[in-house]
Amino acid sequence: MQHFKMLINGAWTEAADGRRLDSMDPFTGEVWATIPRAGAADVEAAVDAAARALKAPAWREIAPSARAALMRKLADLIPPHAEMLADMETSDNGKLLSSTRGEVMALVKTFNYFAGLADKIEGIVAPAEFPGTLAYAQYEPIGVVAVIAPWNSPLLIAANKIANALAAGCTVVVKPSEFTSASTLAFARLFEEAGFPPGVVNVVTGTGPETGEALVTHPAVAKIQFTGGTETGRRINTMAASSFKRVVLELGGKSPNVVFDDCDLDAAIKGAILGIFTSSGQSCISGSRLLVQRNIHDRFVARLVEATRDVQLGDPRSASTQIGPISTAPQFHRIVSMLEQAQTEGAEAAMGGKAAANGLQFIEPTILINVHNDMTIAREEIFGPVLSVIPFEDEADAVRIANDTNYGLAAGVWTLDMARAFRMIKAIEAGTVWINTYRILSSTMPSTGYKESGLGSENGQRNIFNFLKPKSIYLNHGSRVSVPFLPESG
Ligand code: NAD
Repeated sequence: MQHFKMLINGAWTEAADGRRLDSMDPFTGEVWATIPRAGAADVEAAVDAAARALKAPAWREIAPSARAALMRKLADLIPPHAEMLADMETSDNGKLLSSTRGEVMALVKTFNYFAGLADKIEGIVAPAEFPGTLAYAQYEPIGVVAVIAPWNSPLLIAANKIANALAAGCTVVVKPSEFTSASTLAFARLFEEAGFPPGVVNVVTGTGPETGEALVTHPAVAKIQFTGGTETGRRINTMAASSFKRVVLELGGKSPNVVFDDCDLDAAIKGAILGIFTSSGQSCISGSRLLVQRNIHDRFVARLVEATRDVQLGDPRSASTQIGPISTAPQFHRIVSMLEQAQTEGAEAAMGGKAAANGLQFIEPTILINVHNDMTIAREEIFGPVLSVIPFEDEADAVRIANDTNYGLAAGVWTLDMARAFRMIKAIEAGTVWINTYRILSSTMPSTGYKESGLGSENGQRNIFNFLKPKSIYLNHGSRVSVPFLPESG
């Protein structure tokens, strides 16, 4: 059993009132770690530390190239700790060890990429046309950034936001999900080791309504960088509005993966599987609505069932396991009840359709047919290994069904007709569109959600300006100051 502490102002601390939360391993069902349960006083201390670090010369006056060097040092520290971090992540959310290893190692590139931006923040000199005056704008860090992360890719998501913020010279207070805080707490040790000044990176752990809300409503937080569910995002946006905080929300999805009859069928089968069954479907970008052209529907479903039938459920640490457990008990029960409702509403399970018989927190990989886009299963995010197959007639019908959703996070299109692919790119309302591929993502690219999938964007080179605020300076270097009712002087 491991007992973690929080990082506040460079010190490893317990919650002020000593409370703790358990971390459950979803595969074994056992508590493997405990984390502090931060209350308002702890959040206050963390935000105060971040606000002071923002103004302290050790961070504020550091040369941009030195800030970049600290971030590169951090990147160098990841590989020797990758196995430990990946193992913790698997203990916390049950994701396959092969996946958590990949996610941890992806952070090396992320930190190096954002380090590259840290010393390239340029201001502007503008033609403001006042004789004897220099008009220029410099960009300053926006302030303390609150980073709030979900449980499905805890470290990947939190660390990405931290890298964005640090590159701009901001300081951060991170609140990981109460289900999966261990890896973020362990990762935070690396900031100390890399030499970041105390208070630049703080981590508080606890529940959303208590710890999260204290952070979101804190007056000294300038920006909220959130990934999680749409309803939580809606609440955070409302709470943040009264204090004019900048808010970036990366939210849920019900992404269409559209298969045309002119596609490479073998590739599309792989794309459908990759789209839904990776991470047991617990992924915001899951292609949970598979739209298949009607003339290939039956054949495609048969091949999909054939390809998925023997998928291995089991221990996420075993190399032969292909699908791991559902990360949290509430999520498991939600999937089970959504599956029951779908079948009551008329969907039919071509495969799976219920909890696995192993008695653990597993859902059978499921392929539902006879799904209409107006059924609950096609409208609400399920966040599990459940694919809803919906037939369509032609391109116009595919676009109509694809966009008939409150969400707009991502979409896949499978066709060998490039003219059609470009028409689909234009027509689909989603922040990310994949053509003849699925799921690949890079922190060098902007990511955003349309409609209820998000607000604002993160990642990519231009995003650095979302962590900066301009300051416009008019510098009189020679002209007289004229005031209408005072005589000219000088
Ligand atoms: P969640 O919204 O329940 O929780 C996310 C985080 O917000 C957690 O740290 C939680 O403690 C905190 N939180 C909860 N209530 C809060 C409140 N009132 N104030 C402040 N913080 C609060 O989401 P989850 O169940 O952890 O994660 C799954 C969701 O995340 C899914 O909807 C998924 O689609 C979404 N997600 C989106 C992306 C994306 O990039 N768009 C990526 C991954 C996950």
